[in-house]
Amino acid sequence: MKLSVVGTGYVGLVTGVCLAEIGHHVTCIDIDEIKIEKMKNSIVPIYEPGLTELMTKNMEEDRLVFTANHEEGFKDADIIFIAVGTPENEDGSANLTFVEEVALSIAKTAKKDTIVVTKSTVPVGTNDRLQILINENKLNTIKVEVVSNPEFLREGSAIYDTFYGNRIVIGSNNEKAVQQLTELYKPLAIPIYSTDIRSAEMIKYASNAFLATKISFINEIANICERVGADVEKVAAGMGLDKRIGSAFLKAGIGYGGSCFPKDTKALIQIAGNVAYDFELLRGVVNVNKKQQRMVFEKLVENLGNLQRKKIAVLGLAFKPNTDDIREAPSIIITNELTKAGAYVCAYDPIATENAKKTLDSSIVYAEKLEDAIKDADAAVILTEWSEIKNMDLNIFKSMKYPLVIDGRNIFELSDIKKLQIEYHSIGRSTIN
Ligand code: NAD
Repeated sequence: MKLSVVGTGYVGLVTGVCLAEIGHHVTCIDIDEIKIEKMKNSIVPIYEPGLTELMTKNMEEDRLVFTANHEEGFKDADIIFIAVGTPENEDGSANLTFVEEVALSIAKTAKKDTIVVTKSTVPVGTNDRLQILINENKLNTIKVEVVSNPEFLREGSAIYDTFYGNRIVIGSNNEKAVQQLTELYKPLAIPIYSTDIRSAEMIKYASNAFLATKISFINEIANICERVGADVEKVAAGMGLDKRIGSAFLKAGIGYGGSCFPKDTKALIQIAGNVAYDFELLRGVVNVNKKQQRMVFEKLVENLGNLQRKKIAVLGLAFKPNTDDIREAPSIIITNELTKAGAYVCAYDPIATENAKKTLDSSIVYAEKLEDAIKDADAAVILTEWSEIKNMDLNIFKSMKYPLVIDGRNIFELSDIKKLQIEYHSIGRSTIN
């Protein structure tokens, strides 16, 4: 099939490349001409393991091209995927400007019958509105069918998730469109769950809200564990053995971040609010997360007192390992608090430094090596569970001025830490000193 994918971010580019890999002819479109130029030269503008190799392979095999021109990109498309961003508005609702711009552009430039597949996460009812928007603005006598196909990939394992995901959700009342999409995805051998448009849209928000709830829940348990002398890692392991609960997303830490959970939880609260429903539980989840993200900073102040001119080593900036994405990462809040308190922040991240420089306070210094960030520090805080940090030689902590480590991700075994002479605080476990 001839496919177009609009938006070449974490979702769009991975989707385009993977669809090319299973044999389709894909045109990836983005308004960012610099990005398009890079990709034409086989440079992947984001960090996603395995993506460069797969993108280059499919370009060389003539199944993948890039353009900044919508009209040219839509010319032959049997199916057009929308994978542009839906960031958060100030009131927490989803900003649909980019999605609507693409829908209008399709209406004005598409010249053959096409299916428009919305991969972007959009509030319930959006696809129905996009259908009307396209029908009302169509310049050619073509049939355009809008289908919801929410995306569930995770940054850092996006290619694996696209090939081996748990389910593909297709929301449509048009049997022919569902058939065509089923055919398109056939080589992936992933179960397809076909439903109506609004339920499909809700599946995405409900899934992310549920995962965020699990995280906030275990973080609350962790905070109680600290006070009653239990160990949250053992509690989570024991809970996870119950198949009704499952062990995934029961990792205590400094809360969720990233480009999806924070905005999607808030958007779902808004979706509920728009129909006069107070999603009380989810408001709690969001508030707990806000509190949890500050936890490392608070533990630092508790143990170090005044942070003026203290060197704090910040280990990990990305919102999770294996990505360069720092959108809504806890590191943003924590480094802001640190710089406000007059600390000298020396940060290390194996991949996300360039993105961090664009977002974080300009006073932050970036170390080239983990050891350099830690050396002579008054304290070290761990914000991302990169395997490089998890597997580091713990003796490096001895090069600190005072070996105080606040581990926001519980990455070290307490038994290993006990062998060293350092003061170690983590989340929901006993303190070692
Ligand atoms: P992103 O910000 O990484 O990429 C969006 C891209 O769209 C950018 O390159 C931007 O230049 C481009 N764009 C904007 N307007 C355009 C237009 N009119 N024409 C062409 N290109 C345009 O976004 P993302 O993280 O890939 O997320 C995309 C959507 O997928 C969002 O709705 C998000 O909630 C959802 N989603 C994201 C993830 C994730 O892990 N990132 C997972 C599942 C779902």
